[in-house]
Amino acid sequence: MKKLVIASNNQGKLREFQRMLAPLGIEALTQSQLGIPEAEEPHCTFVENALAKARHVSRESGLPALADDSGICVDALGGAPGVLSARYAGEPKSDRRNNDKLLQTLQGASDRRAHYYCVLVLVRHVDDPQPIIAEGEWHGEIAQEERGEGGFGYDPMFWLPELGKMSAELSHDEKAQLSHRAKALKILLQRLRTA
Ligand code: IMP
Repeated sequence: MKKLVIASNNQGKLREFQRMLAPLGIEALTQSQLGIPEAEEPHCTFVENALAKARHVSRESGLPALADDSGICVDALGGAPGVLSARYAGEPKSDRRNNDKLLQTLQGASDRRAHYYCVLVLVRHVDDPQPIIAEGEWHGEIAQEERGEGGFGYDPMFWLPELGKMSAELSHDEKAQLSHRAKALKILLQRLRTA
């Protein structure tokens, strides 16, 4: 496969995917480059939402499509914000308000464990009966305050105890090695090679 469409308009994620796919000689077009509107994400599981997005983009483009659905799951909140991570503080979606809401919700909480989760779904065509599905998790904690300029979303408050850093303090290369998306993509690429 030499070309696929990434079913996302999130600039942070697009940059990460393109950077990770480029060394494999896969040209990653984006949904917005092709003028494809965003799909609905009505489901309560990550995998259902990712499949819906990938099918939509493959249908509209006639090309293989790769979608992800991801979010942050906080143990003390039963996995919330989960699939609602992008809109945790409501519409219009705002990283600033989401982060404020999470910090406030966890005020005084001693259990601050959390993980990012990512599922990737690749359909080779719209009716692909065997989508390639890969998952990745990245475990850390929700810090008491924000720090760092890198990444996006919840990265300034995602504390990595083993590294002594927020994920927003990692370089692009470090995050591209460690993140939930990187882990899922590595598995996806292995599956692609043997498919
Ligand atoms: P999606 O676009 O529906 O997958 O929403 C993912 C949301 O989860 C993003 O808008 C962020 O709020 C959060 N998220 C997922 N991955 C990351 C990450 O690597 N860093 C920071 N936030 C993330």
